Amino acid sequence: MPPVLDPDLRRALAERVRYCHEMGIYDFYRREPRVSDSASVESAAVEVDDLSLSPTFQELREEMPARKSLFARVANETILPVLTSNPEQAITDPVAALKLIREDLGDCTRCKLHKQGRKQIVFGVGNPNAELMFVGEGPGADEDAQGEPFVGRAGQLLNNMIKAMGIRREDVYIANVVKCRPPGNRTPERDETETCSPFLMRQIAVIKPKVVVALGAVAAKNLLAMNASMAVLRGRFYDFMPTGARSSDSSWQGTKLAVTYHPAFLLRDPRQKGEAWKDLQMVMKYLGLEPPTKPAE
Ligand code: URA
Repeated sequence: MPPVLDPDLRRALAERVRYCHEMGIYDFYRREPRVSDSASVESAAVEVDDLSLSPTFQELREEMPARKSLFARVANETILPVLTSNPEQAITDPVAALKLIREDLGDCTRCKLHKQGRKQIVFGVGNPNAELMFVGEGPGADEDAQGEPFVGRAGQLLNNMIKAMGIRREDVYIANVVKCRPPGNRTPERDETETCSPFLMRQIAVIKPKVVVALGAVAAKNLLAMNASMAVLRGRFYDFMPTGARSSDSSWQGTKLAVTYHPAFLLRDPRQKGEAWKDLQMVMKYLGLEPPTKPAE
């Protein structure tokens, strides 16, 4: 018989998991219980309670000592797998799944960027089934005004780069590490990227591209959680699995991630365009893309 769920416990647990999601925590780890040979069902539940759950759950256990064994048993058997999933994970249609993520984002006030002059949230744009995804840093003034990433001068150059690869802007998906414009186009701060990037991770997990191209050091460092120079970051593929993507999703083994220069940087230093083209050629080879016979303007 399934365990009877104490409504207070369920509410507290749901609240806690929702809080973790807000904080960008999606993964909860547990170790299988060591049930001794002679253990009864009830003592097995106590052993389950002894598992190495994440610190968050340890905290929760401390808050509710009287309910420890029930919490652990219920969490393990029934609630945890459901509540730690993002809602879109139950959906196979990427359009509907992206819509759910957008709804979850809402009129976001999770970080200070919402009160620093943003006009609108710039969620992302493009083909929800894209094989190739580009990730930039954050919206600039044009993107903030139009609600779409890479529509200003850097966007024009990105469009040309995409065209040179023999594909169209509509074929790819484009997003940023943060979805709100940082004032004066400053680099997004750590609390901002940490708050916002879970939504980007969820977008990547839904789209399941074959390749993600990080545009510039800010995107690369945030996606890879690596602090290195562009010289170190470029020129190779990384195996990338977005944080929180369900490891039990056997249909997808993650994506390749490549790093290239940000188009805004290439506008400032066009001599580096050849280097960026090398990065894109590496991606094209992997995706089996041929450049168009007529050179892109
Ligand atoms: N720069 C970015 O990083 N993203 C945009 O959307 C536009 C400019």
